[in-house]
Amino acid sequence: MPFFAIDGEDIISGERTYGVKQITWNFGKLFSGDNDPAIEKKRQSLEKKSHAFINKWHDRSDYLRAPAILKQALDEYELWRRQYGSEGDEGYYFWLRTTQNQNDPKLKAKFNTIDNFSKKIENDIQFFPLRIAKIPPKKQGQFLRYPPLNAYRHYLERIFAESKYLLGEPEEKILNLKSTTSHSNWVKMTSGFLAGEERQIVLENGEKEKKSFSEIQSLMNSKKRRVRDAAADAFNDILSKHADAAEAELNSVLANKKVDDELRNVSRPDLMRHVTDDIDSEVVDALIKTVSERFGISCRYYRLKTRLLKVKRLKYHERNREYGTINTSYPYPQAVRLVRTVFQNLDDSFSSILDRFIGNGQFDVYPRKGKVSGAFCAHLLMSQPTYILLNHTGRLNDVLTLAHEMGHGINNELIREKQNALNFGTPISTAEVASTFMEDFVLQEIMKKADDELRLSIMMMRLNDEVSTIFRQIACYRFEQELHQQFRQKGYLSKEEIGRLFQKHMAAYMGDAVERSPGSENWWVYWSHIRSFFYVYSYASGLLISKSLQHSVKKDPKFIGKVRNFLSAGLSDSPKNIFARLGVDISDEQFWNKGLDEVEKLLNETTTLAKKLGKFR
Ligand SMILES: [Zn+2]
Repeated sequence: MPFFAIDGEDIISGERTYGVKQITWNFGKLFSGDNDPAIEKKRQSLEKKSHAFINKWHDRSDYLRAPAILKQALDEYELWRRQYGSEGDEGYYFWLRTTQNQNDPKLKAKFNTIDNFSKKIENDIQFFPLRIAKIPPKKQGQFLRYPPLNAYRHYLERIFAESKYLLGEPEEKILNLKSTTSHSNWVKMTSGFLAGEERQIVLENGEKEKKSFSEIQSLMNSKKRRVRDAAADAFNDILSKHADAAEAELNSVLANKKVDDELRNVSRPDLMRHVTDDIDSEVVDALIKTVSERFGISCRYYRLKTRLLKVKRLKYHERNREYGTINTSYPYPQAVRLVRTVFQNLDDSFSSILDRFIGNGQFDVYPRKGKVSGAFCAHLLMSQPTYILLNHTGRLNDVLTLAHEMGHGINNELIREKQNALNFGTPISTAEVASTFMEDFVLQEIMKKADDELRLSIMMMRLNDEVSTIFRQIACYRFEQELHQQFRQKGYLSKEEIGRLFQKHMAAYMGDAVERSPGSENWWVYWSHIRSFFYVYSYASGLLISKSLQHSVKKDPKFIGKVRNFLSAGLSDSPKNIFARLGVDISDEQFWNKGLDEVEKLLNETTTLAKKLGKFR
């Protein structure tokens, strides 16, 4: 038994069928422990293999002219990315180990060592994709049409699509170097100011305590009004204190973005986001338009919430206030059994992947001191196992998290079976499809067994998540669009102007049920995603694609075959083309409307249930 496994906790007597005894990661496929002599040996072979590739191809240019030679080079590159990559097993292993124990300086040191090593390799090997990008547009077709290169066609298409906007090597180097001072340092400054703040807050037990910025944020969702309001006052006070700095910051990063776009000859501020994410602008445009036209759904949701909470309006910071209580408990073995049943009913391959993960020890289940919070599903190279980290405490949300992370895990395994290492991954726009798909089916199973009161609370919780993921993010995208456009027109935006724009777009999706409370004009100050320019559409696209697929599966269970095909496609083509092959057009508003219909259906059912329970007339 490797030293890191915490075994025992005999909570699972009688549950042996799923082997849930293994509750921490089994690293057997990587190393036997932190001091395994194989670590050093594997690093040496990584270095040898990387340099063999670099030495062979660095001084040649024939592969940029002859498709047959490029095929040979790509085969070798693919093999390297499959088995070694720049991090290898050592990088993956020590990264995972640091998430299990964040406070162990020895692990940190080991991770930093391999991280520095891999950065060097990465830099040395980068010439290869960069030079492919420089194949002249006139010659690109010749490579794309060469049948033996078929497996790499979309990999090349992705590189060529980005290269259209690339400048020369020296210019790119300058842009890269100045991005730290013109973008990231500014953004870090604002988030650093906020993270450094603390305030005395009254807690639920009536006592006052000093709380950090992130703790204050979660206190705003307290069930006690006094606590929520005190937290909101502190939160607004912090934002207002730093609003002037944030104004300077945001104007600078907007200016920097404008300069980059002009140099690259980019036609619209969100174009580079679409290019990097491998998503067609017409698809994103259809998404934004369809969701905005149905903001009525989110407005109705907030109105329903005010009626259930018996208030006239919600203050801005109260929009996530919970309705009801959900205190059912799901010990891990029971959660696994539940999720497994749902997977089995959907498709055999899903439940057997879950069985395999559990049998192989690919889960780290319970919270411990030093372990990171939250949950994730990790993968790096195709040759390495997927690992899932949970912090299971038995709440309903923990069951959904298990389903969510397993969705990512299933996605990985299906891609692994069908794709090469250069297509191993998911585009950002569809990364959350599998996870939310599984979550929703598990939630439906849970609701079957819940009584009406509990069901109402669960449905309200679900709607809150969906409204935030779909409507709020699209409202944010539209805020960003107008922000860039106004900045480009006016040259500078005051914090008041930014605040007005922000409130306008938030009000558009929330309606009258939520106040524009004093202070809420500054909430853009801490919204970090607007600094990653137009990233937020991907939350909405992932969930809505998932909803649209659910809609089709509910109508015809055989559609799950298409879902499986989609999930195994990885990066082998653009989302638009992958769906087109399944007979689905995602640039058609109809597709997005189907997903929105599912949300509206849930809202209608929730309203009917609330009336049935006599919550209002
Ligand atoms: Zn996820």
